[in-house]
Amino acid sequence: MMNVPFLSLKDVTAKYHDEIHEAVSRVVDSGWYLQGAENAQFEKDYADFIGTKYCIGVANGLDALIWILRAYVELGVMKPGDEVIVPANTYIATILAITENGLVPILVEPDINTFQIDDGKIEAAITEKTRAILIVHLYGKCAYTDKVGELCKKYNLKLIEDNAQAHGCRFNGGKRTGSLGDAAGHSFYPGKNLGALGDAGAVTTDDEELATAIRSLANYGSSKKYVFKYKGRNSRLDEINAAVLDVKLKYLDADNALRIAVAEKYLGGIKNPHIKLPPRSVNGNNVYHVFPVLAEQRDAFQKYLSERGIQTIIHYPIPPHKQEAYREWNDRSYPVTEQIHAGELSLPMSPTLTEEQIEYVIETVNRFTPQNE
Ligand SMILES: *Cc1c(COP(=O)(O)O)cnc(C)c1O
Repeated sequence: MMNVPFLSLKDVTAKYHDEIHEAVSRVVDSGWYLQGAENAQFEKDYADFIGTKYCIGVANGLDALIWILRAYVELGVMKPGDEVIVPANTYIATILAITENGLVPILVEPDINTFQIDDGKIEAAITEKTRAILIVHLYGKCAYTDKVGELCKKYNLKLIEDNAQAHGCRFNGGKRTGSLGDAAGHSFYPGKNLGALGDAGAVTTDDEELATAIRSLANYGSSKKYVFKYKGRNSRLDEINAAVLDVKLKYLDADNALRIAVAEKYLGGIKNPHIKLPPRSVNGNNVYHVFPVLAEQRDAFQKYLSERGIQTIIHYPIPPHKQEAYREWNDRSYPVTEQIHAGELSLPMSPTLTEEQIEYVIETVNRFTPQNE
């Protein structure tokens, strides 16, 4: 039996061992650990990569999203009680960022085939309190559509992107996710496509006023030492992680291409009527943060794979509206979201998977038959 980890962070880091160690040593020996040259360099390189004028490094991806909305509140674009449209099937952080600011998440169902927000269901959710659409490039797939852009124009809404799972992804082979709207939040949690050695995040935007406000908010609300314009927090990206991220950023497109190659092999090789595969990456519109399949008898399928040495993860077992944190929504029904949460299983996905591991996953998945059929 072969062992196939879901994602080996050890292997991911080992790939760039020398350069990462050189970068970490450089910062350790420099005596300068916050708000220095490493942040400035990474922010410049990441803004260039994404295709925006500004990048602000922050402490993590949740904070990145919190600061975008908080800055809009501080700048008078939004006020508590205003509504933000968001997909009902996302990682909880997207929704936490909205409620953290006293804004109201309006949950919209996804499309069962793409897993992304169903753009045909957005307009009916818009009210006079709507101020923004927060799309999530979930699982590494671009969620932006021309329709989403048109609705934002028509109703004068901000378009915010949660790009925590899709660094490097493109819309229609052109612009990168993270540059498609007014502002985007990025997470560099270790397991993300671009991962730090700890928590890290960033905001990208072309809006200078927004960028300035966010830089202050994440630094106690201050842009000038000991002068405080906002009631901010300490939410900064540290120099060691900025240096590590700048090393890994150079290889992000190549690593994403390896993820796409793994996905292509899965898509070509997995033939099991009980397993529904995700869409193909077209012109780089999917960088496969994970490879999500929908399975009949998902839990039995996961157990079957686990017994054969294949590690999988459910993204995510409980949808946000069924969480205790949002108990006020617990009796609501979002059938498509619930269907995804009941059937989703993410197969091993990483730029470090070997040919043998990929083949073993394909063969093992193909031999699965649900019980009592
Ligand atoms: C990881 C993630 C976040 C939060 O990022 P952290 O850096 O872990 O705070 C937000 N949204 C989505 C969709 C994520 O996957």
